[in-house]
Amino acid sequence: MSEPQSAAAVGSPRAADPHADDVRRAVDVLRRGGLIGLPTETVYGLGADAGNPTAVARIFAAKGRPADHPLIVHLHRASQLTDWARDVPLAAWKLAEAFWPGPLTMILPRSPGVLDAVTGGLDTVALRVPAHPLAQQVLEQFDGGIAAPSANRHKQISPTTVQDVREELGAAVDLLLDGGPCRVGIESTIVDLSNDGIRILRPGSITAQDLTRVTGLAVDDSIDALVRCPGRMASHYAPRARVVLASIEQVPQAIAEAAARGARVGVLAAQRSPAWSPDVPWLALGNVPDEQAQQLYQRLREADRIGLDVLIAVPPSDAGVGRALRDRLWRAAGLGDAPA
Ligand code: AMP
Ligand code: MG
Repeated sequence: MSEPQSAAAVGSPRAADPHADDVRRAVDVLRRGGLIGLPTETVYGLGADAGNPTAVARIFAAKGRPADHPLIVHLHRASQLTDWARDVPLAAWKLAEAFWPGPLTMILPRSPGVLDAVTGGLDTVALRVPAHPLAQQVLEQFDGGIAAPSANRHKQISPTTVQDVREELGAAVDLLLDGGPCRVGIESTIVDLSNDGIRILRPGSITAQDLTRVTGLAVDDSIDALVRCPGRMASHYAPRARVVLASIEQVPQAIAEAAARGARVGVLAAQRSPAWSPDVPWLALGNVPDEQAQQLYQRLREADRIGLDVLIAVPPSDAGVGRALRDRLWRAAGLGDAPA
């Protein structure tokens, strides 16, 4: 496939709606069974018509993703839920009302017409209404479901800028929409509502407390639930550099150990400590949890850009979105589930 056409960045000065042409072209690509790079508020997606098996197969080929890893179907609005899911419980409607459009994915029993290729053969389907204005416009005009996993090669770091998508999958997409840097920066919270109750399968910026507040129900966010989620791997979101987790007190020792082996070492942490040599690169994560989420994947990519062999990462606290950040860092280190 030739170089992807790239669409103008959000906010570029053009006619009344600077994106109208790009949105039309994106919808055209989807109707012809092609792949688009789709900005969402979480991360960039690799989008295809969720009702077209050939188009969906192209997603798996482009990503190098195993066929049994299910995809998330993106919708324009909550009222489309019943086109894709059956037996939708009251809690799902409450969550849709509170958090859609937004970074929440719901697993529900699938409608009979949903493709096996989308669900990995499961009897459930993952659905989300994204908030990014460009995603919203494309979905409204397309008027169907867009299957869109993160626009990265299997197991790699999710892209949070259009440049990341271009570098990673540029040759595979027919049209790349530039929606600017992603506001949330990590993938959506995934909740399973297909059995009784609510279980978190992937932590994100919407927390267990948020879900309980809206539904009045207890939420299972135990590690056991995370393990049962198909397509989540012990090693994921990993840069080329080896990620080593450490507390802030352990950093000097970890630096010394890596340096003794001749490794080029850097530190990912909210703060720099005077106990580290000034020669050791510091990849600042920021102090505010939402900013930490927004920057995490950019910092992991930076570790590779500056040629680190070892990245010592100091995980943030567990509160709020911190739970999700710890989940991603544990997987970046190849350790699987982060202890609660
Ligand atoms: P990605 O789109 O790359 O963020 O990955 C989507 C993830 O959603 C999958 O890897 C699964 O973890 C999860 N998922 C999608 N569909 C289902 C489903 N039917 N049941 C459980 N998990 C799902
Ligand atoms: Mg992914």
